[in-house]
Amino acid sequence: MDGCIFCKIANHEIEVAALYEDDDVIAFPDINPVAPVHILAVPKDHIPGIGDVGPENSGIVARIWEVIPSLAAESGIAEDGFRVVANSGDDAGQSVPHLHFHVLGGRRMGWPPG
Ligand code: 5GP
Ligand code: ZN
Repeated sequence: MDGCIFCKIANHEIEVAALYEDDDVIAFPDINPVAPVHILAVPKDHIPGIGDVGPENSGIVARIWEVIPSLAAESGIAEDGFRVVANSGDDAGQSVPHLHFHVLGGRRMGWPPG
């Protein structure tokens, strides 16, 4: 989608240090990390957010959830624990309208989130 930063990353119009990539998924470090490990796992197709997931594209979400454990293991946070977050809409603070999963770890995290 024109003007979408994560579409540009997925298309390699903007280069990132990809931690994982296949035909459908790309994962890369967040530019503004909020934890020692902060990875974004992103479908290459432009899905605006969680509210746009349905039977036609839920397979890519399942695929991302297969990739996440490897990302956690390879970045050294699997053993101590990690968190996966998908913000949806204004109240959650979603700032990029292209579905993505934050994989966070490397420090103790509070609950509930602020
Ligand atoms: P959201 O606020 O939508 O849940 O998460 C969007 C995330 O994307 C933020 O954590 C932000 O730091 C990250 N982000 C925004 N633009 C870029 C970018 O150009 N490169 C990378 N690597 N991360 C980005
Ligand atoms: Zn997009």
